[in-house]
Amino acid sequence: MLNDDMKQLIIFAAPSGSGKSSLISKIIEQSDNKVQLSVSATTRPARKGEMNGKDYFFISNEEFVNLQKENAFIESAEVHGYMYGTLKSYVNEKINEGVQVILDIDVQGFNQIRNSLQNYVSIFIIPPSFEELKERLFTRGLDSREVIENRLINAKKELEYASSFDYVVLNDDFNEAFEQISSIIFGRKVIDNKHANLNKLQDLLD
Ligand code: 5GP
Repeated sequence: MLNDDMKQLIIFAAPSGSGKSSLISKIIEQSDNKVQLSVSATTRPARKGEMNGKDYFFISNEEFVNLQKENAFIESAEVHGYMYGTLKSYVNEKINEGVQVILDIDVQGFNQIRNSLQNYVSIFIIPPSFEELKERLFTRGLDSREVIENRLINAKKELEYASSFDYVVLNDDFNEAFEQISSIIFGRKVIDNKHANLNKLQDLLD
């Protein structure tokens, strides 16, 4: 069972290319199954190597709309032209198993739930610079140039919401960012440098 300091839900947001997925994967890997990722539903087509039910539940627009009508989502939003939603049933099942659940969602989704949920901690990851973000998106080679350009435009918008998260973690050095996140999640003492990182972020946006 969770100790009192531990939050049931861990909400992560970050612009694409901030290194969020790698950080989340390492947290999960090291948690001995005590922390798991909520698998969202999306209308985005699967990328090469992605598996249905593991990375996402890949569904049609029609199925998505039906789930919305059934009130099946904790939150849902259109991100980069596709629909994404967190499934109530999936998250509840995990929480009932005593697992800490990570929601990897965008800022719109976070805004929908931040006032209605309890017992969560929210973490926003920022990249060291806009150039670095661009570089990461191109070198990971997952998306076309057009898709990347769109993700970069959205990144600037997303970064403006960082201050509404409990923690803002700078992913300049992967290991340092990982240590900080791991302290937040596993209830160890955290060096809270949200304000310093928000100042860095301001430079990034200027
Ligand atoms: P990707 O297509 O790269 O897997 O994800 C694109 C964006 O959609 C990421 O910022 C990710 O956090 C967000 N996303 C993934 N699942 C959900 C979800 O269930 N709800 C919301 N609001 N955003 C999501």
